[in-house]
Parts: sequence; structure tokens; C-alpha cells
Amino acid sequence: MRQLMDQSVDYLMPPQVKRFFSTKKRLIGTYSICSHWRLLIVYPKDQSIWLVDPLGETVDIMNQTKQAWQSCMKVNFPNKTNVWKTKQVNHAKQLDAISCGVFCLKFAECILNGRELCSTFSEDDVNAFRRTIAIKLIELGGSGKWCKEYCRICDRKSPPPLTLPTGKNDQWVVCDQCSPEMWYHAGCLGIKETSQLKDVSYVCNKPIVKDEKLSLAMDETLIRKRANKQIRKCGGCSVPISEASLDPPHDMVLLKKMLRPKRNCSWQSKKEDDFVVASVHYHVQPGCIKDIDLGKVILSRDMHLLASHRERLSDIGVNVDSLI
Ligand SMILES: [Zn+2]
Ligand SMILES: [Zn+2]
Ligand SMILES: [Zn+2]
Repeated sequence: MRQLMDQSVDYLMPPQVKRFFSTKKRLIGTYSICSHWRLLIVYPKDQSIWLVDPLGETVDIMNQTKQAWQSCMKVNFPNKTNVWKTKQVNHAKQLDAISCGVFCLKFAECILNGRELCSTFSEDDVNAFRRTIAIKLIELGGSGKWCKEYCRICDRKSPPPLTLPTGKNDQWVVCDQCSPEMWYHAGCLGIKETSQLKDVSYVCNKPIVKDEKLSLAMDETLIRKRANKQIRKCGGCSVPISEASLDPPHDMVLLKKMLRPKRNCSWQSKKEDDFVVASVHYHVQPGCIKDIDLGKVILSRDMHLLASHRERLSDIGVNVDSLI
């Protein structure tokens, strides 16, 4: 777009003239002037341009842009009527000196999705959108799958180099937090036996730990922190648990590993095949926990008990002192 505006390339050569002016498509592009990014949308068939400047479009800016565009068009299409309409609309404004590029991409996204330009774009929104852009760029890098194919320690696809203490282990481990995914050779993380990988969870740069959910025994219940996890139904009262507030003690939830009848099978069935292993969440409330064996309750390492949590657990009959 910049090259089109400052005429440094013959972007549109004569054979393309007809195609350019007959297209119903629009051109969307960013260009920068004195290190400030703007978005320009061109509608060749209507001979109109729409300028979006993250700082706002003054009359002067609109006139300058129109003149620059018209003179560029005149060079490229000397025989064409050279009057272009301009358009501007209200939108969120950049309040700092560094976010013009992010604003332009956000506006371009709005336009491509057929939405109006957003009227608010807070600092938090800007930061979140920067992360989205970064993730997209990483995901699109290489073949688009590279983040799932390479070990982040040895940069190899497979197998891990023999110089590392890999033993015979060619398993892969994924970080449970990173997005895009981060994969590692188990050997590169220093894990020699496949058995060390049973029921574990891994987060980058932290030791491998037992995954509390995976390593629950049958009919055991974990007291865990709910954070903002979307948890659908309570196994006791059937009300979605996500609806409860996240203030203590309501940020605490019970997770029971149990056998549950498959779809279309009944609790009364005697056949083993009719059941599946399931993890079921429950409110920490007296009315909801009748299925829970209070002698098989363990505390998650992420759950730090405050007085209100202790009180709530005592209310449902859990012996809090025996948990720790
Ligand atoms: Zn590796
Ligand atoms: Zn990670
Ligand atoms: Zn409930």
C-alpha cells in the first residue's frame, strides 16, 4: 500500500487497469507515514477510499490522503477519470504512541468480518490482541505445524540426539499450559523410563509432577481450586457450577473419579461394558455430596485453604485436619 501511495513501484500496469476498476473486491492494506501506521481500504469500482487513522482523521489528513491517492492513480491510470471519494467513520482511538499497528490490524479484522469498527479498544484489549497476533504468527510459521513437530530443547523432529541421557525413551511430552503447543522429547527433559510418564503433567521449565486428576484412584475425590474453569453440571444438584461466584469458599470444587453408565445405559446395569470412567464435579454443599465418600477425599496442591474453606469443608463433614 505504501509503495502504491508513494509511487515507488508500478504496482498496477496497463493490462490490469480494466481488472482493477471492474473488481467488486476491496483492497485492504496498511501503510506507514513517519513510523505511524494507517489503514486504507480501496473500493476501485466505486472509486472511493476509506482511511482509518488510529489517532483519528483530521480534515487535513483526509485531504492529504485523497491528493496522494489521486496523484498515484493518475500515474498508474492516466486515461481514467481521476476523482476519488473519501470515507471516514468513528472508531476507537489510540491513546499511546506505540499501538498504531495493533489498532490497524484490529480494524482490518473488523472489516474482514463484516463488523463495524470497534468503538472501544482498551489497553487490556490491545495487550490481549498483541498476544493473539503473536500466537497466530508462530502458528503460521514454517509449514504451520512446526510447533507440534520440533522438540524445544534439541530443535529436532525425531529422534532425540544420542548425546543426551535419553535411554531408550522416545516419548514426547507436551506443556499443559503453552499455546501454541510446546513439545519436548521426554529424554531431553531427563526422563529415562516410560513409566515415569504415567499420569503426569508438565509445564515448561518446571519439574514433571503427577497429574492429580489422572492419578486419582477410583471413587477418590479431589478438592481443587475452580479458578475460572468452565464447569458444567454439578453431579449432585445438576446446576452449572460455573454460575457460582469465584469468591472463597465458592472457588472450591470437588472432583470425583467414578464409573458412570454410558449413554443409554442404566445405573442398575450389571454389565461392566455399560460403564465408563468419568470425572464428575460437585459443589461443596451438603445437598450435593451424597455420592461422595468422605473417607476418600484428598486436597489438591493448588488449593490453599482459607478459614472460609475450612468452615465449608467441616460443614459437609470433611475432617479438615486429616487432609494436610
Ligand atoms: Zn529433544
Ligand atoms: Zn509451556
Ligand atoms: Zn450442586
